[in-house]
Amino acid sequence: MSSLQPVRGTQSLLGEDADRLHAVIGAFDRVRRLYGFKRVEVPVIEQTGVFARTMGETTDVVSKEMYSFEDRGGEGITLRPEFTAGICRAYLSEGWQQYAPLKVATWGSAFRYERPQKGRFREFHQLDAEIIGAGEPQADVELLAFGDQLLRELGIAEGVTLQLNTLGDSATRDSWRSGLVAHFDKHRGDLSEDSQTRLEKNPLRILDSKDPRDRPIADAAPDIDAHMSAEAGAFFEAVTRGLDAAGVAWTRNARLVRGLDYYRHTAFEFVTDRLGAQGTVLAGGRYDGLIEALGGPHTPAVGWAAGIERLAMMIDAPKAERSDIAIVPLGDRADAEATRIAAGLRAAGVAAELGYRGNMKKRMSRANASGARYALIIGDEELDRGEGQLKDLMSGEQRAVSLHLLAEAIGR
Ligand code: ATP
Ligand code: MG
Repeated sequence: MSSLQPVRGTQSLLGEDADRLHAVIGAFDRVRRLYGFKRVEVPVIEQTGVFARTMGETTDVVSKEMYSFEDRGGEGITLRPEFTAGICRAYLSEGWQQYAPLKVATWGSAFRYERPQKGRFREFHQLDAEIIGAGEPQADVELLAFGDQLLRELGIAEGVTLQLNTLGDSATRDSWRSGLVAHFDKHRGDLSEDSQTRLEKNPLRILDSKDPRDRPIADAAPDIDAHMSAEAGAFFEAVTRGLDAAGVAWTRNARLVRGLDYYRHTAFEFVTDRLGAQGTVLAGGRYDGLIEALGGPHTPAVGWAAGIERLAMMIDAPKAERSDIAIVPLGDRADAEATRIAAGLRAAGVAAELGYRGNMKKRMSRANASGARYALIIGDEELDRGEGQLKDLMSGEQRAVSLHLLAEAIGR
């Protein structure tokens, strides 16, 4: 190892940047409870096949972005690039099927080998919510309302739009797919190279291509609506009616797709124009065939994931954490006594900062800079009387207080 540089695309955070991430996580955990999603924890590492089978070999994530390695036992392991696959693996291997329909939520780091830029990292963090074993449109509505309320509680709903689409049931999807292939085939020569490949493997993905050569052709492509079966149409209508009832604003984006075959019905993204190219802050959909792809029984499910860094960039700066009191001991006896006082306050739930560096002046200026509401100055002389000087750092007022009544004196 020749340098102490961090690994490219990773971040080390202190202060406001770290507080921002945790403000997002805190809001997520509060809203999660309101919607009855249970906490769940899954491993950072899974057997590579768990992701390869569920995310699809042709997706960017699996074909170019995974951190995969062989462990010392020769097993193919991958750092999770997302949560859904691991949660579904656990649903099968841990017997969680007995709890269906299972509403779960989690958060943590995820890893993708991508070109780092604003809002795009190699180690990033996701919030994740899933409802497994529920085929009812109400599940989609509840999941979307959870995401919507989260964005509102974070104070960023203003600049964010919920874009919604349906991919229909399998008959609808197959029929739409044929319609799309026929359309794109007519314009094959004008498509980007990537989309010419997609036409063979994954024609739906051409619809959300960002390449300017593809856009006019994608925009002119047929919508799913003409292909929709009665059942699929009724499902989508139930979802949109539910969203309206829950007060969740949405707009239809008929170009929003998921490439993999097992995605069904609802697909959605909460999108902002405030983050440049990295505009998707929360995305998900219904993946009724994923658990079968893992070798499990047919299990309808719906879920979303959100990038914590992208949300953290958008929220107002959280209030900095402040101690309630900064203790400033002066003298050897006071130093020892200060430790006892701090322990008592902290045990009583008072946030106490202990000054132990430098002279009186340095200790006082550190106390002032700490942002604490009060400073407690204790010298050997005051100690003899069982007292300290309590200074209100906002008003500057100072008075003697009994050390036994300290918590009361600062209103705790
Ligand atoms: P993008 O189109 O931005 O690459 P994606 O389709 O790969 O996104 P998903 O797999 O749907 O993203 O992941 C869900 C969310 O996780 C994204 O909407 C985004 O907020 C976040 N995310 C994905 N990749 C990264 C990354 N490399 N760095 C930071 N956040 C990310
Ligand atoms: Mg990506």
